Amino acid sequence: MMTITEWENHSVVLSKSFGGVGLVKHFAVIGDPIAHSLSPVMHNAGYKALNLAADYQKFQVSPEDLGEAVLGLKALGFSGWNVTVPHKETILPFLDELTEEAVRAGAVNTVKVDKGRLIGHNTDGSGFVRSLQEHMELDERQQIVILGAGGAAKGIAMALAPFQAQLCIMNRTPERGAELVGKVLEWGGQAHQEEWGRGAWLAQADCVIQTTSIGLKKEEYPFSLEGIRPGTLVVDIIFNPWETPFLHSAKAMGCKTVNGIDMLLYQGVNAWEFWLEDKAPLESMRKALYQALAV
Ligand code: NDP
Repeated sequence: MMTITEWENHSVVLSKSFGGVGLVKHFAVIGDPIAHSLSPVMHNAGYKALNLAADYQKFQVSPEDLGEAVLGLKALGFSGWNVTVPHKETILPFLDELTEEAVRAGAVNTVKVDKGRLIGHNTDGSGFVRSLQEHMELDERQQIVILGAGGAAKGIAMALAPFQAQLCIMNRTPERGAELVGKVLEWGGQAHQEEWGRGAWLAQADCVIQTTSIGLKKEEYPFSLEGIRPGTLVVDIIFNPWETPFLHSAKAMGCKTVNGIDMLLYQGVNAWEFWLEDKAPLESMRKALYQALAV
């Protein structure tokens, strides 16, 4: 393995020896839809900041073309790529190996080509945890409420499980909530389910994480946050709109509020570090992302 610095020097040597044709590493994100993806902005800003010979593109790949797209990316010499909706689970059969994070999440958002082998990894959960740790400590004393039990909630809950925090999961469809609780327990974490929108859960929470898609269209949350303690950390993983009505009411109740932009940032930073085995230029990537959203 090479550090980025060694690789940069290597790239310069190759540029000279191949008459100016330098070694360029290619990365991408695949999904459907993909036009909205901010990953190219964030990664390309990082390459620019470190003056790396690398590029990051986005490709629209429909579900029926996934297998061919994977083979195509490999054949074209891509070093790695991110995977977004709807391919995070369906890509698994096309890969050679999975990291523990991918196995735990049952989903892949990052693929690395390593000596011709495709390694599937997941940085969604670890990215969320890294963003959360900027605001709170994580250990068995924390009571964390997770609203929702979809794909994002699963990644988050499975990444929180090793910290032994007490997870209270609430989902509109209780069967899906129960399935997630079972998975967290199976991996040695602490979790239980409460009825959607009811109970004394809010008053005890140190942190509430909103992972449903409610708020994407600025719609009001279906229940009130009454009873929540002022100062509680409230996270909504949506970042567009920047402040959902849910976050707005949490702020009005004296809570500390955080949106989902840093979850996106850190999943990208973790993917970068998985691919290049070196520290990512966090602040350059953050700046590019925030600028793209004009905040
Ligand atoms: P899924 O479709 O897998 O899950 C959706 C979740 O929202 C389910 O728990 C679902 O409940 C719930 N839900 C949807 N509509 C309602 C409603 N009207 N009332 C109650 N519950 C509802 O989606 P994802 O988990 O992939 O994504 C969820 C959100 O997270 C999206 O807004 C997405 O943009 C955001 N996200 C942000 C990321 C970031 O980097 N910041 C990364 C990934 C996702 P039920 O099971 O009952 O259907």
